[in-house]
Amino acid sequence: MTARVLVVDDLEPNVKLLEAKLRAEYFDVITAFSGQEAVEKAKSEQPDIILLDVMMPGMDGFEACRIIKKTPETAHIPVVMVTALEQQADRVAGLEAGADDFLTKPVEDVALFARVRSLSRLKVMTDELRLRHATGKGLGVVEDLDFDSILEGEEKPRVLIIDDQADQAERLTGYLSDKFLVSVESEPEVALARVRSADFDLVIVNMSIETMDALRLCSSIKSFEETRLTPLLAIVRQGDTRKLVRALDIGVNDYLTRPVDKNEMIARVSTQIKRKRHIDHLRSSFQASLEMAVTDQLTGLYNRRYLASHLSAMFNRAFWTGRPLSVMILDLDHFKQVNDTYGHDAGDKVIQAFADRVRASTRGMDLACRYGGEEFLIAMPDTEKREAQVVAERLRQDIEINKIIINSGRDELQVTVSIGIASTEDGLKDDTAQKLIKRADEALYGAKTHGRNRVVADAA
Ligand code: GH3
Ligand code: MG
Ligand code: MG
Repeated sequence: MTARVLVVDDLEPNVKLLEAKLRAEYFDVITAFSGQEAVEKAKSEQPDIILLDVMMPGMDGFEACRIIKKTPETAHIPVVMVTALEQQADRVAGLEAGADDFLTKPVEDVALFARVRSLSRLKVMTDELRLRHATGKGLGVVEDLDFDSILEGEEKPRVLIIDDQADQAERLTGYLSDKFLVSVESEPEVALARVRSADFDLVIVNMSIETMDALRLCSSIKSFEETRLTPLLAIVRQGDTRKLVRALDIGVNDYLTRPVDKNEMIARVSTQIKRKRHIDHLRSSFQASLEMAVTDQLTGLYNRRYLASHLSAMFNRAFWTGRPLSVMILDLDHFKQVNDTYGHDAGDKVIQAFADRVRASTRGMDLACRYGGEEFLIAMPDTEKREAQVVAERLRQDIEINKIIINSGRDELQVTVSIGIASTEDGLKDDTAQKLIKRADEALYGAKTHGRNRVVADAA
């Protein structure tokens, strides 16, 4: 995959060098020569990733990073700080400024490409989720997450360290235990089972573990559906570039080199967990907006849009398996009078109460939806017409007998319902979901013209 990279450095030769390396690997490169220009180009050019020098006159890299991460239009763009080799403290400062990663000068090719690729892969995923999230926000169903407070919830994030060297595991646990709930597992097979069965926010793997191939362990974690998105942090030996690159290729999200610096570790662990929780939030907000899109707001039943797509699938399944499918359409009788007498709000309450009874009398596999104003449709797979008639008759009686209470108990209201039924078992040629609905609708019309408050099945 290719990506658009913004390279920022006040020294032209540095920019040219990185530009040449990236272009040789077919990345699209944009350049900037100051912090100010970086902030502007991040906004106007929307790169996929930013390589940002730390030491620059005027606005330095930290400041530029802070602004980029605070600006809504650029906050999602991954930033890699480029620091001098000996500036260990700069790494932590960079991560605290919101940077996603850093590279040390002179920049090694393998590390450069591995980081750029893995961060731009991640960005493709979050971009898609952000888009869906924006749609959800437009619909008014979801809210933004407060990024700064992600780690300040009631429960500490859960971290698992997989390491067979007890002294190192103990030291790392000590670094993290203030902010995180840390467990240690020395047996890789057991660790894999634990990662799969518990919900860890992050897993740290010592890549030099002796009892198992650590790369294989990481790739297993990344391959199971339930753990695929759990962030992995690798601990690698200094200079073990080959293993590091393999690890990043497998999907390890970040790494630390030994000896592990406490502050850097805390910063990296926090960044990964924040990122994961952000993605989780985007996902669940997408789920919420999906549900909203197919749900009727007044009753909580599925809406007509959902019915349109889902009924065809039910119909096709019935066709291929040779099992019956029945559909009933229910319409409240003289409902206009309810509105006219008690008001529209009371009418809404009646519709809700009716929907609750529909819900209560349908099975999990049935599809109940609000088909129109005071009209409902229930699709029942694996159900013959005779059975559907029994269900419909029970529902009709229930509505007739049990009055609906409105106006906080001050009024009791008797409503009745007419129901039309049609089924696939009539053996009609060229039958379709639409035709099935049409037959149920005609049966309903029959129920209305024959005096209402009754069930009529289509005679096919
Ligand atoms: P019929 O027995 O022939 O079905 O008579 P009806 O009065 O129920 O039928 P009609 O289709 O003439 O009127 C339906 C009424 O339902 C008209 C409309 O005001 C009312 N209605 C539709 N949707 C809603 C809603 O969401 N809330 C309320 N309160 N009323 C609704
Ligand atoms: Mg009606
Ligand atoms: Mg009607």
